Amino acid sequence: MSKSTRWDSKENESKQLPIYRHKAKLIQAVKDSTFLVITGETGSGKTTQLPQYLHEAGICKNGKIGITQPRRVAAITVAQRVAQEMQCTLGREVGYQVRFDDCTSQDTAVKYMTDGCLLREVLADPVLSQYSVVILDEVHERSLSTDILLGLLKKVFMDPANATKGRSFPLKVVVMSATLEADKLSAFLSNCPVFAIPGRTFPVTCTFGTAVGPKDTESTGYVKEVVKMALDVHTSEMAGDILVFLTGQSEIERACDLLYEKAETIDYRYDVQDQTVEGLLILPLYGSMPTGIRKCVVATNIAATSLTINGIKYIIDSGFVKQLNHNSRVGMDILEVVPISKSEAQQRAGRAGRTSAGKCFRIYTKEFWEKSMPEYTIPEIQRTSLTAVVLTLKCLGVHDVIRFPYLDCPEERFILDALKQLYQFDAIDRRGKVTRLGELMVEFPLHPGLTRALLKAASLGCEDLLLPVAAMLSVENIFIRPGHPEKQKEADKKHRALAAKSGGTNDFATLLSVFQLCKSSDRPSAWCKDHWIHWRALKSAFSVEIQLKDILHRLQQLFDDEVELNWIIFHDVLVTSRVYIRTVCPIRYDWVKDLLPKLHEVDAYELSSVARQEVTDEEMIKWETREAAKRQPEVSTEDI
Ligand code: ADP
Ligand code: MG
Repeated sequence: MSKSTRWDSKENESKQLPIYRHKAKLIQAVKDSTFLVITGETGSGKTTQLPQYLHEAGICKNGKIGITQPRRVAAITVAQRVAQEMQCTLGREVGYQVRFDDCTSQDTAVKYMTDGCLLREVLADPVLSQYSVVILDEVHERSLSTDILLGLLKKVFMDPANATKGRSFPLKVVVMSATLEADKLSAFLSNCPVFAIPGRTFPVTCTFGTAVGPKDTESTGYVKEVVKMALDVHTSEMAGDILVFLTGQSEIERACDLLYEKAETIDYRYDVQDQTVEGLLILPLYGSMPTGIRKCVVATNIAATSLTINGIKYIIDSGFVKQLNHNSRVGMDILEVVPISKSEAQQRAGRAGRTSAGKCFRIYTKEFWEKSMPEYTIPEIQRTSLTAVVLTLKCLGVHDVIRFPYLDCPEERFILDALKQLYQFDAIDRRGKVTRLGELMVEFPLHPGLTRALLKAASLGCEDLLLPVAAMLSVENIFIRPGHPEKQKEADKKHRALAAKSGGTNDFATLLSVFQLCKSSDRPSAWCKDHWIHWRALKSAFSVEIQLKDILHRLQQLFDDEVELNWIIFHDVLVTSRVYIRTVCPIRYDWVKDLLPKLHEVDAYELSSVARQEVTDEEMIKWETREAAKRQPEVSTEDI
């Protein structure tokens, strides 16, 4: 198929989307107000189409259109799709930026990014002067960074007097949500206009199962049940694709393994009700989608609203989700598998009714729904650690973090926990003011605890040992866990051998050793295969390490200019109308303080007296070290 035919079909496809009929009105609505809330069913075209409409309308001539996504995979996938629709190379007019992966260029006018990335951009440029429009997408997910961005944008741009402050043209802010939180959002943004895109949805019949009851809130036995249900649908329901909701990568892999195994035993002559169904294609999360065969997509919550999968008629809902929850007692965020909320369950069921009537099979009982599932999902800001966010806010000059405009306020004790931790890290002082160290810490896209460790290592000169560890902790799990028991044994053996090489009891040292061994190997991908290590994860770790090192070196330079070069050793001095020192080496005060025990007892030489007379090296050192403590000396290292 030629490129233009493909484009034509994509263009026709996009004209079928519910958003298309509202194109002109939407463009006008964005132009007319600073803030605009847009709601519309998942799949109506908000994420992929609106930025294209605004681009076409020439809104980018002053600056970029930025669209945030709470999920990394969504930012990348959607950018790929839009680049395809706009017929351009990804990274040119359409690009994406997620943590540690920037696929944008000078030409990028439509930029998809994670909300975390935009928050970091606000730090460097609080009025977002490079943007003409900022679209906060998937706001109903209520991710921590999106909630903070909402508050910040409201604070900076709500007052009309501020709308062009520090900018040559006004910024437009669009807030998009898949559910009906529109009124709450509009009220928060001083009753800004709401644009609702009418959806076309079909009825979805929901049935409850028997596998998970109210006492099974920590159950992990549901994978088998989900697989059984998917196979039941496959053999007894009419044609139509299946979407299965599970909670994470390892569960998805297990479910797919079981499905492959069981699907092999189906005899299509006798076992399958609908004789037009000739096979089952099992797809973990996402993949290319051929037609004519029933697809079974096994996904996490990402398929609830972030990514639309066409053709889904049946939903199998496990009823669980993996969620990050703050545990005040241990002072850490813990990833837990918990029951989803009722609103989330409805969202999942809705995925089956996009193009025709659908069915949703819930593996849990009605009682579980009533007793164990909360009405709504608690926003992330009310259940995760606020340490990084509080430091960001403080660095942005928001000193009173308790009275910040939150859409939903976090509990005060969570804010106090964050302040306490930042104080322990020396990132803020007793009065809550950001320290020099805090300003350095905020530059790193890492959890403040890890950043603190990295900066401490750098101050001890051993950052080369910690950088790889920080990088390895920032990528997905590197150890492969095969489903097959025999292969699992083999992988375990290899992993244990790797751990033994680095002492056997220190997991951080194991990460470091894996990083170093692989990097120094002649054929790193073959090395990974041999040791049951994810090559893709290690490749990302190599790239992350370089990026972290770059940030560290850039900051060290700043730091050196500011502090460290006040301290030098030099060989000779020449005095003319100014004092010149020659043959110079920067040092740290720590290195010489014990060598020069009398340093503090010596009286200072006045600069004027030094300038008037010839001085010995020894005298010069005494003068120089005292002066240096006070201010930058008027010396130059240039040759005369
Ligand atoms: P919304 O943001 O309103 O949920 P999207 O703009 O994400 O809607 O999607 C609109 C439509 O575009 C979807 O219904 C789907 O048909 C199509 N689409 C989006 N992304 C992809 C993709 N990666 N591959 C195939 N189709 C896609
Ligand atoms: Mg969307």
